[in-house]
Amino acid sequence: MRTIPLFVLVVSAACSRAVTAPTVVAGPIVGIPADSAYTRAITRGTRTDTGAPGPRYWQQSASYRLSARLDTRAAQLAGEGTVRYHNRSPDTLRRVAVHLLQNLFASGSPKNENVPLTGGLRLERVTVDGRELARGGDGGYDIQGTIGWIPLARALAPGDSVELGFTWGFRVPPGSAPRMGQDGEVFMIAQWYPLVAVYDDVNGWQTDPYLGNGEFYYGYANYDVTLTVPTGWLVAATGELQNPRDVLTDSALSRLERARTDTSVVHVVWRRDAERTRNDADGLLEWRYVARGVRDFAWGTSNRWLWDATRAVVGDANGDGRTDTAAIHTYFRATAASWELSARFAKHSIEFLSRDIWAYPYPHMTAVETTVYGMEYPMLTAIAAVADPQELYTVIAHEIAHMWFPMQIGSDEKRYPWYDEGLASYFETRAARDQFGPAAGEPSTTGFINYLRAAGTNVEVPLMTHADKYPSTAAYVIASYEKPVAIFRALRGVLGDSVFTRAFRDHGAWWRNRHPTPHDLWNAFENASNRSLDWFWRTWFYETWTMDLAISGGRVVGDSLEIEIERRQPAPMPAILLVRREGGREDRVVVPADVWLSGATRHTARVAASPRVLSVELDPDKAFPDLMRGNDRWSP
Ligand SMILES: [Zn+2]
Repeated sequence: MRTIPLFVLVVSAACSRAVTAPTVVAGPIVGIPADSAYTRAITRGTRTDTGAPGPRYWQQSASYRLSARLDTRAAQLAGEGTVRYHNRSPDTLRRVAVHLLQNLFASGSPKNENVPLTGGLRLERVTVDGRELARGGDGGYDIQGTIGWIPLARALAPGDSVELGFTWGFRVPPGSAPRMGQDGEVFMIAQWYPLVAVYDDVNGWQTDPYLGNGEFYYGYANYDVTLTVPTGWLVAATGELQNPRDVLTDSALSRLERARTDTSVVHVVWRRDAERTRNDADGLLEWRYVARGVRDFAWGTSNRWLWDATRAVVGDANGDGRTDTAAIHTYFRATAASWELSARFAKHSIEFLSRDIWAYPYPHMTAVETTVYGMEYPMLTAIAAVADPQELYTVIAHEIAHMWFPMQIGSDEKRYPWYDEGLASYFETRAARDQFGPAAGEPSTTGFINYLRAAGTNVEVPLMTHADKYPSTAAYVIASYEKPVAIFRALRGVLGDSVFTRAFRDHGAWWRNRHPTPHDLWNAFENASNRSLDWFWRTWFYETWTMDLAISGGRVVGDSLEIEIERRQPAPMPAILLVRREGGREDRVVVPADVWLSGATRHTARVAASPRVLSVELDPDKAFPDLMRGNDRWSP
């Protein structure tokens, strides 16, 4: 998700900072806290300390077959469907947990955000292998807020599967709900069906409730979904449309065909088109979609959307040595003027991120204009009618970066919101820099600057905080979105471009469509760099230590220039020195972070005194979030 910028909130909260007296950690800097669940997973052989999954790694799988009918006048959705759940764990399961996310909008459910009340989910029928279950009582299912527990009369053995069936309905909440909603012309439908919770090798069932702020943790599954909406309403969804000839007009079909090969943007459904969809005697159309190996299925529909399409070149996505492409679709109302750029923006985002991370693997990427400011679903993102083109670009790039994190890197977004939001924000800033130039990208981006403003104030809490346990929205935004932009830029500065990129790609190769923890990501960086980086993880993920390295002086001793470096804030970071000499020669000297780890606050670096040194500058690339730039230069 992308939140509406909190610039004002963060700036005013940051006014209380007093970074005067050094508050340096006196003793040695110790490693990261023990994590017994992760250590147990290594012992069991499902994880390793190299960052790769262990030989015994397993994860559950599921196949959903869903159908839904949307009454657009009454804003009522009626759904039914089944999910076949496969137990690939070594454990026998006696019950299954499901997310009933529409219960966020029920008055009795706990929540940490103001949301419209709709009555929540009406669960009309629940079956296990075709046998109906009652609610409550002996052998019945139980609902607590957004979590349902379904008992299994026949325990689910390793290797076995069970079919759960549901019939349900709900009123689609108005506005931007959060993350879904409707305004009568556009319906964004998400969190809309009973979804089996993750049962993983580290923590077992993950059943943290949906309270509004924290996001999701979903397993990978196949979907076959049939959606019934009135004629004239275009549908955009996760997965591939199976019956285009049943629902699209002849002109839309031929324009869509052109968009498959054209590099320009094609108007598939446009202002003067007499018909938006095929007609049908009963006034309803069925749109059928199939998606494989995705974390979720979401969709949107509108009787006002226009439809643009083009294609993006993504590189070799399937490993056959050939260059692949992905279709780009954007849907928006004529009133959303900046959206006429949306297909080009989505194409640029996909192409840039495919180069910067790894090739986009899905058949299409679709952006739809909705009441929601910015929210990601597999192959689909819901974004508001943002007026400013550059702001629209950054939201599109952010949501599209989520197609990697968490859509492919299937992390637990509630426990580790920085894992998907921070990485999406980091790659968003890199994409924006590529599109608009350095002024739009890190380190000049608002995320980097907002972190520096909040650093050392009471707005900051550690990144390793559960998404529903932040003391304020500002604290959540700084830790989950803005500080990670600075952290991942700094990590790239510590490791260099090639090691940083290799570590990410290793992580992707090992964990794509799986469930890594932060340790698996950190281990990939340690493995690729062949270094222990515990000091880095401790500093930036578990603490709110701030950084200020300074050059306090220099003097020539014999044929050396001695440069005095001080650590004036707790964070231990490498000192990267650019030494400029008479005659134009420049040397780079890297003092590793290790010099601080025993608790030292001063270090003397020695370089050759000739040719004569004109100046010495710390962190010349501004890779690190150094709070005091004024003390980073020295000249004799
Ligand atoms: Zn996000």
